[in-house]
Amino acid sequence: MPELPEVEVTRRGVAPHLIGQQVTQVVLRRAGLRWPFPANLPELLLGQTVLAASRRGKYLLLEFHHGTVLIHLGMSGHLRIIPATTPAQKHDHIDIVVGKQALRMTDPRRFGAVLWHDAEDGDVNQHLLLRALGVEPLEDVFNAELLYKQTRQRKAAIKQVLLAGDIVVGVGNIYASESLFRAKINPKISAHRISLARYRLLAEEIRLTLRAAIEKGGSTLRDFIGVDGQTGYFQQSYFVYDRAGEQCRLCGTTIRQIKQGRRSTFYCINCQK
Ligand code: ZN
Repeated sequence: MPELPEVEVTRRGVAPHLIGQQVTQVVLRRAGLRWPFPANLPELLLGQTVLAASRRGKYLLLEFHHGTVLIHLGMSGHLRIIPATTPAQKHDHIDIVVGKQALRMTDPRRFGAVLWHDAEDGDVNQHLLLRALGVEPLEDVFNAELLYKQTRQRKAAIKQVLLAGDIVVGVGNIYASESLFRAKINPKISAHRISLARYRLLAEEIRLTLRAAIEKGGSTLRDFIGVDGQTGYFQQSYFVYDRAGEQCRLCGTTIRQIKQGRRSTFYCINCQK
């Protein structure tokens, strides 16, 4: 599943090809994915200029003067810049054409979304899907004090509190497991029992983990361009994620896998207390 770093790398990859460009065609190859596409999207966008390509959580936002296209990649979606004449394959669902190039969305499992927020309806950050999101993990508003303050009444396990996304967005399954390992915090500990000092470490490791993933992804940027471009999701070497039964890279203890809220958590019982 695309997590925040993949979406950010996608944004950085496609933005230079879109910003300042005029939409010349919108091709909808099906009625929708997770939700229906706005049927009038072609009329809305035709002739309009892309002003910015930003991101909120895992939503990519294409901004126009009269509104914003919200794109979510769901479970398996990805975006590429391709020559506009490239024939569509089975899972290519939507093209936003800007002259000779197009932004193409491919999504085999079809949990993705493309939505329109009209400027007349106010700030896009107040959109139903965006307004309850926690703070951005790479911005200064995300820090240990915030984590500490907002977890004093939270008895749920810290891993699940991170995944909930209402305090901080974009710390998905992989990065929650990795950050907790790097901060030496047991993923099963109740969030309200963690001290401010330990949250300092955790906030720092979340930031470092996400930044490292984005930097790593940056080296795959060219994959977003061209007909044969791959998804751009990058393999990384993890400390604990997906390493059940293997040895901890720090202490050699066997990495454990448990279920928390139906999601797999990986951790080292020796390093994480
Ligand atoms: Zn260990």
